Amino acid sequence: MDRRGFLRTTAAGAAGVAVAASPVTLLSSCAGSRDKKSPSPELRISFQEGTAPGSSLEEKLDYMENLGIAGLEPGGKNLAARVNELQQALRGRNIKISAICAGFQGFILSEEEQVKALFDSTMREIVAAAGELGSTGVIMVPAFNAQTPCRPHTAATREYLCEQLHELGEYALSYNTSVILEPLNRREAHYLRLVSDAAAICRDSKSEGVKCMGDFWHMQEETSDYAAFLSAGKWLRHVHIASRGRRLMPGEDGALDNYIDGMRALKELDYQYYVSFECGAEGERETVVPAAVELLRSQWEQA
Ligand code: MG
Repeated sequence: MDRRGFLRTTAAGAAGVAVAASPVTLLSSCAGSRDKKSPSPELRISFQEGTAPGSSLEEKLDYMENLGIAGLEPGGKNLAARVNELQQALRGRNIKISAICAGFQGFILSEEEQVKALFDSTMREIVAAAGELGSTGVIMVPAFNAQTPCRPHTAATREYLCEQLHELGEYALSYNTSVILEPLNRREAHYLRLVSDAAAICRDSKSEGVKCMGDFWHMQEETSDYAAFLSAGKWLRHVHIASRGRRLMPGEDGALDNYIDGMRALKELDYQYYVSFECGAEGERETVVPAAVELLRSQWEQA
């Protein structure tokens, strides 16, 4: 083939690639993607209470502030009684409450009336406290594998879940917050495993107070981090992160800890919420925590 023939072939090849790529382009524009020229959203890192070194909440918050951490993700247990403590601790700091991690009792898909009622009352108490704290939402899992008896995995159960979530979402909205569905891996919760499935439940719940999240650890279920986050679109409200081999600090599993593909989707979605650490640590926290933050910032740049 001469050079001109080669150029014709590669031009056609490139056009083919462009056509093949267009559904993704359409998808991201439907999801409200940012203009290519607009600045990238900021990476807002959040820690759970156990992430930073320190023996008190004050010490941990000082440490986080020095690292430029933007959010704190407290557990939901006993949250109503902690509202004042948390408000005082955050006063005058550049750290806000990100999401609230679960903490309720019972579960939404329980077949037992009392267990479901316990979920309803404890979850609503946490949601109200989350609203007072200006939180983005309260994370929930519809049913862990170990929670039984659970409603069967049928179309009728899904419809029931959407109805229940609608009510809960409207309640959360009245407190300016949300409920955030978290898909887990199949070993922990076979009921909800994929970010796109969580987003579809959000859509069908028909309440602006029902949102979803992705956890890079559980996203071993996904075929693509990029596609998973993109599929969540406007319903994506929170992200969890950990190392991808053993759920330690990002970076402690070496080359496995690549988040760039998922981060690229977050940037395209103009994601404005938090990426929150939910992980253990093998090394000394004084070493592995700042290293993890640096790794994420560098990958965000590359994404
Ligand atoms: Mg998680």
